[in-house]
Amino acid sequence: MKKHNFSAGPCILPQEVLLKASEAVIDFNNSGLSLIEISHRSKPFIEVMDTATALALELLGLEGKGYKALFLQGGASTQFLMAAYNLLETKAGYLNTGTWAAKSIKEAKLFGDVVEVASSKDANYNYIPKGYSVPSDLDYFHCTSNNTIFGTQIKDFPTSPVPMVCDMSSDIFSRTLDFSKFDLIYAGAQKNMGPAGTTLVVIKEDLLGKVTRVIPSMLDYKNFIEKDSMFNTPPVFAVYTSMLTLQWLKDLGGIAAIEKENEKKAKLIYSEIDLNPLFKGFAATEDRSTMNATFNLVDDKLKDTFDTMAKEAGMNGINGHRSVGGYRASMYNALPYTSVAALVEVMSELERKA
Ligand SMILES: *Cc1c(COP(=O)(O)O)cnc(C)c1O
Repeated sequence: MKKHNFSAGPCILPQEVLLKASEAVIDFNNSGLSLIEISHRSKPFIEVMDTATALALELLGLEGKGYKALFLQGGASTQFLMAAYNLLETKAGYLNTGTWAAKSIKEAKLFGDVVEVASSKDANYNYIPKGYSVPSDLDYFHCTSNNTIFGTQIKDFPTSPVPMVCDMSSDIFSRTLDFSKFDLIYAGAQKNMGPAGTTLVVIKEDLLGKVTRVIPSMLDYKNFIEKDSMFNTPPVFAVYTSMLTLQWLKDLGGIAAIEKENEKKAKLIYSEIDLNPLFKGFAATEDRSTMNATFNLVDDKLKDTFDTMAKEAGMNGINGHRSVGGYRASMYNALPYTSVAALVEVMSELERKA
């Protein structure tokens, strides 16, 4: 039986993408060779890389605006340090909205002064801080658009007098934003774009060259920009599969089209969380993420019953992160509305039974 896959990451990908990717592993475009056994310098693969980077910029509305899209390795976690390595000369500001934000702060502190511009740690990160202002004496301001673990999402980004860096790992390509507000965007592929193994970096080229330290080659954005993400062997399978997902998204009508679907899914689950007396939401209502819905049972005694019912209905990956507990339904782009409807059905069935 096909499962309803709410996994937080690696996560669900479109079925047609999985099919095409698996075909390419056996025989890439009828070449008689596998995608993963040809040179990354060969014409067919260079075409894949060019298409993937062009699609990323096109979908984000950043073509011709001085940005370069890169497919790197090391996950978003490597970007925590790479961003600071390349950009932090004296002082940077960070918005602390969760576990991932805290990890990015820890890495940045290796390179200079870090100001926590605002934090929601006081309430176990169940809300997004508001009403703060970004100081103007910073090299850059860093924020996390969607907090995967806690289920909060920034709805209104601050105006920043300094370059904005954003970890968009878990909501890139899920909603329309003015992406040109950001100077550096990064996202691990495995949340909304592809398999684990590559990280999308979208960077405004004029951001670079302002720090005085020596940067190791593999951590220097400039090297990857110069070599079109091929400074060394890129993760060919992850890039190809990401390209297929981006093509899938474009064919659907792009971010604006998927945003509507994502809003419908989010509305469905949150109205069940609000109306069903057996459940309570974790995140502050106005900051609720359209990607990761975090909730819990009001009465823990129902846990075994609910878990069994959910399992029988084919639910996968709905357990909350250990730092929050309860449940988390991750509803990335490829998750169909029908899966959310099936989960909501289990929740209301529990109410009828209890
Ligand atoms: C998953 C996640 C990360 C970590 O990504 P890796 O690719 O595993 O390093 C960082 N930030 C956010 C917001 C995430 O959701």
